[in-house]
Amino acid sequence: MSETESLAVQNEYKYALCLVDIKVLGTRTFSYLIPDEMKGIIKIGQPVTVPFGNARGGGRKIKAYIVGFSNYLEAGIRAKKIDEILDTEPMFSLEYLKMLEWVANYYFSDLPTVLKTALPEKFFQKNLKNYRKPNKELKVLNTKKSSKQNTLSAEQQKVYDDIKKVGAKTSLLYGITGSGKTEIYFKLIEDTINEGKNVLFLAPEIALVSQLTARTIKRFGKSAVGIWHSSISEAEKYKVWQKLRNDEIKILFGARSSVFAPVKNLGLIIIDEENDPAYKQTMPAPRYSAIEVAKKLAELGADANGDGGAKIILGSATPDIKSYYEAKNSNSLFVLDKRYNNAELPKVKIVDMRMERGFGNNGIFSKYLVDEVKKTVGNGNQVILLINRRGFSSYTQCMSCSAVIECPKCAIPLIYHSATGSHRCHYCNYEIKNLTTCPECKEEGTLENFGTGTQRVEEIAGKIFSDFKIQRLDSDVLSKKNEHFEILEAFNNGEIDILIGTQMIAKGLDNPNVTLVGVINADLSFNLPDFRSSERGFSLLCQVAGRSGRGKDEGKVIFQTFNNSNIFLDKAREQDYESFFENEIEVREAFDYPPFAKIIRIILSSDNNFRAEKSAMEIAMRLKDWIEKMSLTERLIVMGPAPCVLEKIRGEYRFNLIVKNKLDEKGHNIILSFLRKVILPADIKMVVDVDPMDIL
Ligand code: ADP
Ligand code: ZN
Repeated sequence: MSETESLAVQNEYKYALCLVDIKVLGTRTFSYLIPDEMKGIIKIGQPVTVPFGNARGGGRKIKAYIVGFSNYLEAGIRAKKIDEILDTEPMFSLEYLKMLEWVANYYFSDLPTVLKTALPEKFFQKNLKNYRKPNKELKVLNTKKSSKQNTLSAEQQKVYDDIKKVGAKTSLLYGITGSGKTEIYFKLIEDTINEGKNVLFLAPEIALVSQLTARTIKRFGKSAVGIWHSSISEAEKYKVWQKLRNDEIKILFGARSSVFAPVKNLGLIIIDEENDPAYKQTMPAPRYSAIEVAKKLAELGADANGDGGAKIILGSATPDIKSYYEAKNSNSLFVLDKRYNNAELPKVKIVDMRMERGFGNNGIFSKYLVDEVKKTVGNGNQVILLINRRGFSSYTQCMSCSAVIECPKCAIPLIYHSATGSHRCHYCNYEIKNLTTCPECKEEGTLENFGTGTQRVEEIAGKIFSDFKIQRLDSDVLSKKNEHFEILEAFNNGEIDILIGTQMIAKGLDNPNVTLVGVINADLSFNLPDFRSSERGFSLLCQVAGRSGRGKDEGKVIFQTFNNSNIFLDKAREQDYESFFENEIEVREAFDYPPFAKIIRIILSSDNNFRAEKSAMEIAMRLKDWIEKMSLTERLIVMGPAPCVLEKIRGEYRFNLIVKNKLDEKGHNIILSFLRKVILPADIKMVVDVDPMDIL
């Protein structure tokens, strides 16, 4: 190992920085003296034992990892000696540590926090206990290799050939639902393994990870397959880590956090459903994007020219706007625009709920949807009803011209605040008081506030469809860990007629008996006060529509809307991503949203509303001044402070500052170095979210 050899030179150093994990202190680093006999052999990534705590007060030996070296100590500190090297073979390399350092810096975190996220907790236990029983989730590893193997269709073959010919560092595979992206992944996996290299395969959710793992084992067999995600026990992760270290795993499957698993000799990283927000960690720090980390990871094995290292395949039926834009502009976009075998997409009907109201139906179900649900269940088939309402969302719409009230400066919906009787923008704090006439059509008294949630839908459905078995599935229902899985199992076994839920039920569900999908309010996700709302809304509708008619029976989809002039509904009905993209990219450019600027979100919070706002205003003012002094106001745009959409969480009042950075790395460094110098009073908290998934 060349990197460990070069590290041996570090025998000059006096002190080693040791990472420990202690209940009362959390994950921290401390300096320890390197004893003479360890000089020349001690290396980054080695597990060691160090004395901790006061010897007279029962000092003890704890496990630590070497993460750095130095010759200096802070004044007033007396370093103790490292006790013992537990394993001569490091558990991670210097490159690996450098990648984690990049994560810590870029995402405004620190190395101990990132290491804590990356390493299994077992790493810090001095005496490893025996492994407990394997997880339920690992049952998938018992899947058998199938004797029947698919060959690529002509269209798939062409896309595969193109990907190989171009050989881009990062390729985007855009293929509509059911087009057979997985078959192309398989072919690329096969090539990578034949080259003697390994594969990391990411999916956004655990359920999807299991599905892909099963499919892959059917294809390649189970030897050399590993799984890594948050539901896998720490002991199991530790075991996988050891296997990775010994290069015993060829394909590692995982969700977001598996991007930190040290896959040796990495040749290919596949990121399926790459537009999924679950690839970004929002809570707690580090607030990293697994996709960006994967890009860093892919660079690790490369030489100075950028050759070598791993290749990345991003796959999606509704790509992230930024990924699509970048792929298009760098000749690395590959398209599958037909379903495999030319299978039909489900038929989508758009129902205008304002017409229903004209007929005197003020409920949340159209007559058409009620009839179709009854017919479907009557025929022995099953129904999915989607209501994508999270607790806080609401918006105001004119019932006459169907305009949604928007901020003139930010192009996002204004939110009604009953306390002040005003409509407010949660980006820039623009406010209109006592709005009673529609700003578009000028009619009086036509404005209505919207906000129906899953619980209300469940209650009403229970009355209308009293003979049917109804189950709700959203995050409020989930108290136990496996409940999600159990409800979906029951649904797949036909024990539930109608499944009602949030976006949670839109992904990955593969039940051939579902022939009707009803979207209660297709406008909801479009009207969230966020610049990504159109992208989210479009992709959610495409995804949920794809759940219908997967078996032999033809599928139907109903979008209920109060705004049938929303062009995105038609585009979602046709699954016309390209046309959606053309529209969306114009808006992004006009308002400096990604990919035309990068966003840094800063949240200031306190249990005292006034003090939170005051500190947010002070920071905003100082930041704006500083940017003005550098004459960068055109390239670094600071917006706010404004109250967050989620104004108060657990008793904390929150204020938003949004920075739009049009200067790439330079701008990023300017903003982060400013933020690092900010000193806050004890009652004020600051959270920095780099490249946030939303700014609610
Ligand atoms: P996607 O991931 O693009 O939504 P899948 O890879 O799941 O699509 O493919 C959709 C369906 O078509 C699956 O049931 C898959 O087995 C089948 N399929 C795709 N390509 C082939 C092929 N070349 N030969 C046989 N079946 C295929
Ligand atoms: Zn605004």
